[in-house]
This record gives sequence, structure tokens and C-alpha cells, in this order.
Amino acid sequence: MPEARYKRVLLKLSGEALMGEREYGIDPNVVSRMATEIKSVIDMGIEVCAVIGGGNIFRGISGAASGMERATADYMGMLATVMNALAVQNALEKAGVETRVQSAIPMDSVCEPYIRRKAERHMEKGRVVIFAAGTGNPFFTTDTAAALRASEMGCDAMLKATKVDGVYSADPKKVKDAIRYDRLTYLDVLSRDLQVMDASAISLARENKIPILVFSIQKDGGFAEVMAGQGKFTIIT
Ligand code: UDP
Repeated sequence: MPEARYKRVLLKLSGEALMGEREYGIDPNVVSRMATEIKSVIDMGIEVCAVIGGGNIFRGISGAASGMERATADYMGMLATVMNALAVQNALEKAGVETRVQSAIPMDSVCEPYIRRKAERHMEKGRVVIFAAGTGNPFFTTDTAAALRASEMGCDAMLKATKVDGVYSADPKKVKDAIRYDRLTYLDVLSRDLQVMDASAISLARENKIPILVFSIQKDGGFAEVMAGQGKFTIIT
């Protein structure tokens, strides 16, 4: 088994990562593959927590564009992340990994409320804590929630799972000669407006000195490889 380079990490999975080839919603096969990826990192002895997006179900900004009040639409988006968190929890438990979902919007009969010290304790016991409902506030994104929770939980890295193996100068699926970067600084990302995470997430990670590792979740075993410092990824420090 490859040796772990990190002790505690936060994985940010976008809602779209759970969609697979579908246009909307959750593909159970994809979710169970994600669970296998997470399990292999847990098996390396790394403590893992996760923030899951909601874009596969509802995005506040799209709701607002079609005439809803932005804050209301954002609350709907946050509720969407809870559904995704439950789907990932279910798949992880099936794979034999103990989990807890903690929601920033209290929902007592569905999951635990977010309590930092409790989350800390779960992680020490080897449970995967899935943080749902983003930050609990409208006008934010789950990227910012990821940077916030990674800071609160003292994570030594934040992993951004994408469809490509790192950060490129342009979308490599559209621009043939897009340049791939192995290493970037937070300021590079901000000043060149590289589409990694939103600016508030990058700033928070920068302030708290949490490296961001961007890697492809499409490759089997990719998450564990990155955790061992192998494979392809972009590191932002
Ligand atoms: N959201 C929010 N506050 C938060 C996190 C998320 O209002 O702290 C809402 C927002 O409407 C967002 C939606 O939840 O569009 C889904 O999250 P996001 O777009 O970040 O999901 P992803 O792109 O990662 O799938």
C-alpha cells in the first residue's frame, strides 16, 4: 500500500461529479465508485472529511436567473447538497466505511447538526464526516464551505476532484493546446482567474495555508495515488 503523505484531508466533490453521464441527478454507480475511492484513502490511515456540492440538482444562481429570489434559490441549493450527502453516506456505509453527515442547516431527523468538536471526534475515530448544506448561508458556494470546513478541521490538504488531471490555462476539453500546470500559487489562480474554485475559497485556503490539490476523480485509484504524492495533479500553495 502506498505511504500516505497527509494525515487529515477534505475532499470537495461537486454535485456534477455524482451525475456521471446523466443530465441531472445522481448516478448510483458513480456514487459507489466515489465511495470506493474514499475507502482506499481511509485504508491508508488518512482521516477524510468531505463537502459535496449540489449543482446536479439545483443551483441558486440558475433559480435566481429564472426569477426566484436569490436567497430562497440558494436555500434550495443547500438542500440539494443534503440529498447528495445522504447518497454518498449510503454508498460509503455499503462499502464498510463508518460515516456521519453533519448539516449546516439543522435537520435533526435526517442527520446531525454541524458541531465542530463532534466532527473532530468522529474523524479521530476514523469516520468519514460529510458536511452538508454548504456554509448554511445564501450567497456562498460549496467551494467556500469546503475551504471553511478544511480550516476548522485543521486539514493538511484540500482535494478538489474534477474531470481532468489538474489545472489548465483553459478548458482542455475545448481548447486543444491548453497548458497544464503542476504547481501554482494561490495568487496565480486569483490573478489569472483560473477556474479552480471561487475566489473566496482560494483566499480562505491561502489565509490558512491549506494546499489545494486538483486531481481527476475519473481515474480508478486516483485519490489514493494523489494522497501518496503519485499520479498527476496540480498543487496550489
Ligand atoms: N449554496 C449556498 N450556500 C453555501 C453553499 C451552497 O447558498 O454555503 C447553494 C448555492 O445556491 C449553490 C448550491 O447551493 O448554487 C449548490 O452548491 P454549489 O453550486 O457550490 O455546488 P457544486 O457546483 O459544487 O455542485
